[in-house]
Amino acid sequence: QAKTAGKAGFALFDPSMNAQAVERLELEGDLRKAISNGELTLDYQPIVRARNGEITEFEALARWSHPRLGLVPPTKFIPIAEETGLIIPLGLWVLREACAERRRWIADAGANPDLMIAVNVSLTQLRQPNFVSQISAILHETGTEPRHVKIEITETVMMFDAEAMIEKFAALKHLGVRLAIDDFGTGYSSIAYLLRLPVNTVKIDRFFISQIGRQREDEVVIRSIVGMARSLGMEVTCEGVETEAQLAMLRKLDVDFVQGYLIAKPLPPTAVAQTLRQGVPVTP
Ligand code: C2E
Ligand code: MG
Ligand code: MG
Ligand code: MG
Repeated sequence: QAKTAGKAGFALFDPSMNAQAVERLELEGDLRKAISNGELTLDYQPIVRARNGEITEFEALARWSHPRLGLVPPTKFIPIAEETGLIIPLGLWVLREACAERRRWIADAGANPDLMIAVNVSLTQLRQPNFVSQISAILHETGTEPRHVKIEITETVMMFDAEAMIEKFAALKHLGVRLAIDDFGTGYSSIAYLLRLPVNTVKIDRFFISQIGRQREDEVVIRSIVGMARSLGMEVTCEGVETEAQLAMLRKLDVDFVQGYLIAKPLPPTAVAQTLRQGVPVTP
């Protein structure tokens, strides 16, 4: 019996699983050094008013240029950063960098002084007891007014400890930053929780936008989220807008803001000034 079990045990060393585990360990080790090595950068994707294409904010999106593997997508390294706790220093870096960049756009590129910067924040960060004071310190240090910063938090954080999250949101609100619920519609959170969250913006997950023209029910989802947001005094942003037909429908559904490849891809900082000057190809 014992011998069989032992053999079965050896069978666990599936070479492909092993390769994955090794890659992950490697990435984890490399990520530790990535910030200090200057391998992380931010791209910025414009978010515009659906009605007239006015750029009201840029969302900062982390990029990791690995010296050997090339560009590693955030969908790969953010989960590793979350599990290892590296998201704490990474997240602070993202906020500091994004705020500093925003200041340069206003000082040097003639951007509207009310242009906002949006940053993504994950559950592990929210759970840090000193999260709010750390944010406050960075805003101070970079000379950023809280109302010019929007914090995007994915809806799934509500799955873990909704009550604690509601308190965190309230503390952030009190600090004066703006709040957005990211990827809304795919997670677990109920309308009952949403009612209690002091958020400014609901970002409808791009899945629903991708279904426009294919599945009538998804238009109904968007329509009802807009209706709910309206009655709660929240604004609606739709992410992942890729076609003119989607934009036309979202305007019909009275969505406030849109973001997606149709308007602009995430841009390296060097391309932001030009986009600010030229605007985006969204005609009223
Ligand atoms: P997210 O916050 O929902 O960001 C939107 C994602 O959709 C971005 O992917 C963006 O590049 C992509 N996107 C934008 N427009 C379109 C479109 O028209 N079509 C399609 N197919 N995709 C579009 P990205 O940059 O790969 O980031 C993926 C996720 O990684 C983000 O989703 C966010 O959850 C996370 N992430 C990125 N940067 C950070 C960060 O600094 N901190 C944290 N905690 N998470 C981050
Ligand atoms: Mg986001
Ligand atoms: Mg999103
Ligand atoms: Mg998303």
